[in-house]
Amino acid sequence: MKILIVEDEEKIASIVEAYLKKEKYSVTVASTGTKAIAQLKQGYDLIILDLKLPDIDGEEICKLIRESSQVPIIMLTARSQEDDRVRGLSIGADDYVVKPFSPRELVARVKALLRRTTGGKTILSFNNKTLLIDISGGDIILGDVKVDLTPTEFKLIKCLCERPEQIFTRLQLVNIILGYDFDGYDRTIDAHIKNIRQKIDKPLKEGSFIKTVYGVGYKFNGCLDEI
Ligand code: CA
Repeated sequence: MKILIVEDEEKIASIVEAYLKKEKYSVTVASTGTKAIAQLKQGYDLIILDLKLPDIDGEEICKLIRESSQVPIIMLTARSQEDDRVRGLSIGADDYVVKPFSPRELVARVKALLRRTTGGKTILSFNNKTLLIDISGGDIILGDVKVDLTPTEFKLIKCLCERPEQIFTRLQLVNIILGYDFDGYDRTIDAHIKNIRQKIDKPLKEGSFIKTVYGVGYKFNGCLDEI
């Protein structure tokens, strides 16, 4: 597994590098945004990206990566404002760690993220194989039958099921699914959720794979099978 660390603070970069190498990851450090971008074509399994870099903003790099790749990204941020964290996730980061952090915690996050996004497992299985979501192929199989979802519906359920611990607000989902430029009302999300539920909730006697969190938004409600 190849990991790219994009961090200008040498001390932090070398500590993280040492911890990851101990776990047998192959690690490359880029100390600027320009160097990071030059490295991207090497193909990494995960990127640890500092938000504040001397040349290019970490957010810009994240957006740039997302134009062509779904590689898992963990943002390092010194900002503790919830808005900034949410923003990091909505521009395409998969997770974030606030500085100062324990290297051990970061390694745990790396492992968890790789488990859930790659680890050779692009198919996520829920509720004793009732619902299979093929993340890379874009398919959903419900009890052996392929479900016909629109691309937006697929993006939505993919986003929710990849972070089952997270509650997403409607606005966040609009930003993630439809992009910042989308000019619609955030209740659009409700309509998509309703459609998804009609397609995938049939086998559930009660409840839904997507839980409504009143006054907040939505979260995924399936139980991930250990494969
Ligand atoms: Ca920095």
